[in-house]
Amino acid sequence: MNNVEKLIAAGEKCGIDIDETQSRLMVLYMEKLLVMNEKINVTRITDEDEFIEKHLIDSLTCLRFIHHDAKSILDVGTGGGFPGVPLAIMLPEAEITMMDATGKKLKLIENICAEIGIRNVEFLHGRAEEFGKNPAYRESYDCIVSRAVANLCLLSELCLPLVKKGGQFIALKGKNYLDEMDDGEKAIKVLGGKITGIESCLLLQSDLVHVIILIDKVKITPEKFPRSFGKIKKEPFP
Ligand code: SAM
Repeated sequence: MNNVEKLIAAGEKCGIDIDETQSRLMVLYMEKLLVMNEKINVTRITDEDEFIEKHLIDSLTCLRFIHHDAKSILDVGTGGGFPGVPLAIMLPEAEITMMDATGKKLKLIENICAEIGIRNVEFLHGRAEEFGKNPAYRESYDCIVSRAVANLCLLSELCLPLVKKGGQFIALKGKNYLDEMDDGEKAIKVLGGKITGIESCLLLQSDLVHVIILIDKVKITPEKFPRSFGKIKKEPFP
């Protein structure tokens, strides 16, 4: 089986319908990223089978939870483009913005997307807590997704100010998410969010359990959030 077939088959096992064109594009993205990864380190996963499962399929586990009418989707701390790039390939009608504090990584994924013709993408270089204070971005996205960036409490402070009221925030978490729930849940409430679901996703070969935390933005975020990076790091969530 080639990689395009492997990805389609892996999607089927997880209930994700990937067509051949989408699979080709994701595999092309993987191949180009792995070549560039030798110069600029963006992922420690270099085995293609592992990449298909832990980057491509894992990114797509949140697909079915994204509201059908979400047009503007932001991936906070996208790194090598996950989950943003696979989502952009699967949701051509939506505009996917990928944000990262590290310009080098962002430029790399921007170049690969341009090269292979992924057009429904935007790139924002900078820190989420700074964009969250900027009226041009604050309360403006239909949906925010984020994987492997920070604990739920901190992540919520970075992401929820950027979600518009009525929109959603989807946090992709590891199996230790329970340790983050107490602080996270309190912060989410203060920041204008409400947890509406916690979904487990079992990845295929590795028996890895990943968890998707679904949060609706039910109220505007109080103006004092997000705090500056220094304060977020030093002081507990008030
Ligand atoms: N989401 C990708 C994934 O799951 O493969 C990358 C995860 S990587 C461990 C975390 C990324 O978040 C890094 O690329 C880092 O630069 C970015 N990041 C961390 N804090 C950030 C912030 N406050 N604003 C924007 N990006 C941030």
